[in-house]
Amino acid sequence: MQVAVDGPASSGKSTISKILASEFSLIYLDTGAMYRAGAYLKLKYKIIGEPFYELLRRTDFIFVGAGKPFVLKSPNRREDVSAAIRTPEVTAATSDVAADGEVRRILTAKQQKIAEGADIIMDGRDIGTVVLPNADIKFFLIASSEERARRRTIEWRVQGKNVIYEDVLKDISERDKHDISRENAPLKKAPDAKEIDTTLLTIDEVVEIMRVCIREIAG
Ligand code: C5P
Repeated sequence: MQVAVDGPASSGKSTISKILASEFSLIYLDTGAMYRAGAYLKLKYKIIGEPFYELLRRTDFIFVGAGKPFVLKSPNRREDVSAAIRTPEVTAATSDVAADGEVRRILTAKQQKIAEGADIIMDGRDIGTVVLPNADIKFFLIASSEERARRRTIEWRVQGKNVIYEDVLKDISERDKHDISRENAPLKKAPDAKEIDTTLLTIDEVVEIMRVCIREIAG
């Protein structure tokens, strides 16, 4: 079974996908982590153009599962980037990297290869439209920008990061704008995706709605 979960930043995609992955024994793939890793490599090695694309092509993205380290493996090194891809610097650089058509071709091919013949739940921006157009079930999660910024602010404060709500809101709104307006695989609801507005719902309530839909198709 293949499940696609798309939506804007901080709409709950990854938290919810991890829960459903464990309930339905699905592999969980966080495609945002792959774009973040691309930005991380670009910043780290300060390379652009073909040398950067070549590095991406030669890198294996080893994402063993929810809560497990996210490891990048190139021919001569292995690196756990779980924390490094979440810094504000990498987050800010990711939208540009994700708008690059060649980067998308490379990462989409890797994502489709991981999904081949697998029972998988994938979250991102273009899963239902581009990566898994034939997914068994597609969800599109939305929530108001204010609510998403509120959730993300709490999440970061719990992790000890001293963030200001207004800054988080600005960052989320800018990322949305970028993701929606880019030419290559923009953030868009697939026509056959089920849209869920999570603004006034708890995680458990959203999971329950999705669980019922998945059970229906799982039989
Ligand atoms: O999901 P997350 O917020 O970690 O994703 C970081 C960024 O990666 C997004 O803002 C978006 O620009 C990009 N992305 C994408 N396509 C995906 C997943 C993420 O363009 N499938």
